[in-house]
Amino acid sequence: MKSWTFRPRDSSKAGEPPIQLVLLGGGHAHVHVLKQLNQLKQLNQLKHESQLKPLKRQGLPKRADRGNSKLLPAMEVTLLTPDRYQYYSGMFSGYLEGNYELEDIRIDLERMCQKAGVRLILAAAGRIDPEGQTVMTDSGQCIPYDVLSLNIGSVVAKRVGGSDRTSDRLPQLKPNYYVATLKQLLQSKERIVVVGGGASGMELAMSVQAGRRCASSNDSKDGSLHDVTVIYTGSPLAAYGEHASRRMEELARRRGLHLIGNDRAVLIDDGELVLQSGKRLPYDSLLQLTGSAPLPLLQASGLETDASGYILVNEQLQSVSAPNIFGAGDCIALQSHPELPKAGVYAVRQAPVLWRNLCGYMLGDPLVRYRPQRTYLSIISTGHQEALLQYGWLTAHGHWCWRLKQAIDRAFIRKYNE
Ligand SMILES: Cc1cc2nc3c(=O)[nH]c(=O)nc-3n(C[C@H](O)[C@H](O)[C@H](O)COP(=O)(O)OP(=O)(O)OC[C@H]3O[C@@H](n4cnc5c(N)ncnc54)[C@H](O)[C@@H]3O)c2cc1C
Repeated sequence: MKSWTFRPRDSSKAGEPPIQLVLLGGGHAHVHVLKQLNQLKQLNQLKHESQLKPLKRQGLPKRADRGNSKLLPAMEVTLLTPDRYQYYSGMFSGYLEGNYELEDIRIDLERMCQKAGVRLILAAAGRIDPEGQTVMTDSGQCIPYDVLSLNIGSVVAKRVGGSDRTSDRLPQLKPNYYVATLKQLLQSKERIVVVGGGASGMELAMSVQAGRRCASSNDSKDGSLHDVTVIYTGSPLAAYGEHASRRMEELARRRGLHLIGNDRAVLIDDGELVLQSGKRLPYDSLLQLTGSAPLPLLQASGLETDASGYILVNEQLQSVSAPNIFGAGDCIALQSHPELPKAGVYAVRQAPVLWRNLCGYMLGDPLVRYRPQRTYLSIISTGHQEALLQYGWLTAHGHWCWRLKQAIDRAFIRKYNE
């Protein structure tokens, strides 16, 4: 596997152009980077030491905390991402059910960039060239970089082959900004089939079902919307252990979902889903939530990836083949922890390490290590403002779990939209 060498340039030297830092994707870690850049900008504009206090309360980077106003080398930062907003997947269920408006579940990247003095390019990256140190957008714009940071998430793994002449019947959830279109499409469809009984499949199926139940009870003309069907290979929520799995199955049945377990969807046959058991399920809308897959541009870049195609990084979140490329979130595979699941909570925890290491790398400082947490709090919405909570051995269900989830999710959005 090819590897690239790169030495940070000293942009403080006379005649040296500013370092080009390019942030690819507006994911969980990059919103943190944008916030930190905004704080640095404010710090550099301070006239009095007394003005530091409110900034300190917001948690400044270590160097800034020491009151050092010459914090970083001269640099220009660009964010390249296809949509003005970053949509928060933890709140998709609440949005699809009708508990949230679109504004409640998204972060305004344009506003964050304006505040932080970051150039925003609204386009998707189509190609990364580590040799030439450029990113090519899908519209053909070439963006040079000195340091590149990747936080472009993942796509839904397409595990069922076949096709449908009517693309509307196969709505997409990713990229995240498809969520509003998805909601619109699902609203007008009768027979909704979800493939995948993991956390996202069950959560979305139950929320859509709850939303439809509310809609039909409010609509006196039609109380007969079809129940949502979910198909999975073993049992629902299998990765969460037997107790949580049984609990989820019980809840889903009580809510009227049509569950097909111990079977496998094998083929999409134009309006019908063919299962391994030979059953054929007609659908009006088929949603695949069968795990994550990497964006193809990662493997095409020639950077070292894991077997699935995620960018391989060391504990400093630095590409193992190009030291001027860093990454966080779903798009990376951590060399030291290859089995780490793809979940937003990891991207959030990686964010401060990514920020410190981007700064450290540009300054020639030692980099810090990211150590993943052993367990994390998982709260899966089960519709009707209830949720299933799991933390280590503890499993609980109820309205309070949903309230806790709502508080955490709203705080996350508020932090970046204020
Ligand atoms: C329904 C559902 C519910 C979930 N709930 C939870 C939960 O409660 N808790 C949890 O921890 N995890 C949850 N997850 C998993 C979580 O969504 C992902 O792990 C998380 O979003 C990954 O974050 P990220 O920052 O890596 O990328 P993302 O949040 O996916 O952000 C990627 C960014 O990159 C941009 N982008 C995409 N392609 C390109 C491109 N080619 N060029 C430039 N930019 C690009 C996107 O527009 C986006 O801004 C859920 C997933 C789903 C599907």
